[in-house]
Amino acid sequence: MSALTDLTIAEARDLLAKGETSSKELTEAHIGAMEAARSLNAFITETPEKALQMAEASDKRRKAGEAGVLEGLPIGMKDLFCTEGVLTTAASHILDGFHPPYESTVSENMWNAGAVLLGKTNLDEFAMGSSNMTSHYGGVESPWRRSGDNRPLVPGGSSGGSAAAVAARCALGATGTDTGGSIRQPAAFCGIVGLKPTYGRCSRWGIVAFASSLDQAGPMTRTVRDSAIMLRAMAGYDPKDSTSVNVPVPDYEKALTGNIKGMKVGIPKEYRVEGMSEEIDQLWLKGIKWLEEAGAEVVEISLPHTRYALPTYYIIAPAEASSNLARYDGVRYGLREEGKTLDAMYEATRGRGFGAEVQRRILIGTYVLSAGYYDAYYNKARKVRSLIAGDFAKAYEKVDVILTPTAPSAAFSMGEKMDDPIAMYLLDVFTVPASLAGLPGISIPAGLSTDGLPLGLQLLGKAFDEETLIRAAGVLEEAAGFKATPAFLAV
Ligand code: GLN
Repeated sequence: MSALTDLTIAEARDLLAKGETSSKELTEAHIGAMEAARSLNAFITETPEKALQMAEASDKRRKAGEAGVLEGLPIGMKDLFCTEGVLTTAASHILDGFHPPYESTVSENMWNAGAVLLGKTNLDEFAMGSSNMTSHYGGVESPWRRSGDNRPLVPGGSSGGSAAAVAARCALGATGTDTGGSIRQPAAFCGIVGLKPTYGRCSRWGIVAFASSLDQAGPMTRTVRDSAIMLRAMAGYDPKDSTSVNVPVPDYEKALTGNIKGMKVGIPKEYRVEGMSEEIDQLWLKGIKWLEEAGAEVVEISLPHTRYALPTYYIIAPAEASSNLARYDGVRYGLREEGKTLDAMYEATRGRGFGAEVQRRILIGTYVLSAGYYDAYYNKARKVRSLIAGDFAKAYEKVDVILTPTAPSAAFSMGEKMDDPIAMYLLDVFTVPASLAGLPGISIPAGLSTDGLPLGLQLLGKAFDEETLIRAAGVLEEAAGFKATPAFLAV
């Protein structure tokens, strides 16, 4: 690990501004780290040549006095964001050879802010999963190990490649997308920060769609400040996305005042779920204490419909996915298998192009949307979804943020839970409710499990109040003082 790859985004930015390093130098160091970490399989596509060109162009801009907020900083892009001319796969066989003729708004915003693309990071196929094991390009290995145990672990998912790349110092930061927890849960498993903004804060245009009423892009970084910096560049109104909201994008870094005196922090009693490990409960109590000691007022709240969140999510998300994924027909994108008739061609293409988890979701989604079941499942789920959103609205009359664990367990071994989809779905128990309500959330590395793995605490905020969320997260991060680094870096 060279000193350059160990910098935070804020530190690298400041060194660049002082002329003490160049984007070229930073980018070269990260390309080296990315190559040295190939065994993790964090990237589906590496773009070192493009990265060096972008870095050189950035250094020129800086000389001309035109530095953007991410000027010269090398980052990873989840392979769900369309990048013009660069292979975009969504980790699916069905998108074989797809080179988008357009750029997603979020990635475009980041290039306009000066960022440098290192490559496209691995993920669960179509972002469906919590382990990054469903990728057509193979699973991602976490850079972490349990103490005294060398068995490979999952990085979490679906943004597992981004989380592993950032934790292993292959990139200063990376983008993720979060439909039900895919930014926050892998961030927790890999000991980094992951921020899911309010639905509508970042444009979805050009991001391969999974569940359109839930999908939201956000930053994955090693510090809260870095997420604040990255989010500012990613966010913004986009007329090309009808659900993008036209509100100003603040300078989120300014929210990091360190002062949360009088802030009201809600602790939802329904989040003390069965099966949650004792050490996560203990960490949650510590988190409450840290915020209290910093002057916050802790309030018990109730989110009574929490227990319906997972079943609701696993109806709505597959329903939307089944509709979104109908477009992969062998005609317009990627893979095409031959068949004697049009139907046979569709069947062969979709049968071979989609993996098992994606097919499961399409089947569930088609079922809950079919005549006769639509009202019983899909419409019912939509009603429960508004009750869940209503719970949060009520809680936010009394509190400014909500503190919970991010996930009910630490990372698990590669291959574990693969034959038990329900066990996999349960990992989203703390992240899914806020997704259904469209609210922002952030995971902060807050401690280690007894066997040495990172554990995250989650803060949830009010819609479009990422600033308060970031302020509280900064205080929590400071108090937790998480300094552990993955075993991979020690080799
Ligand atoms: N694990 C959840 C799922 O499989 C969330 C995925 C996501 O947020 N993209 O649907």
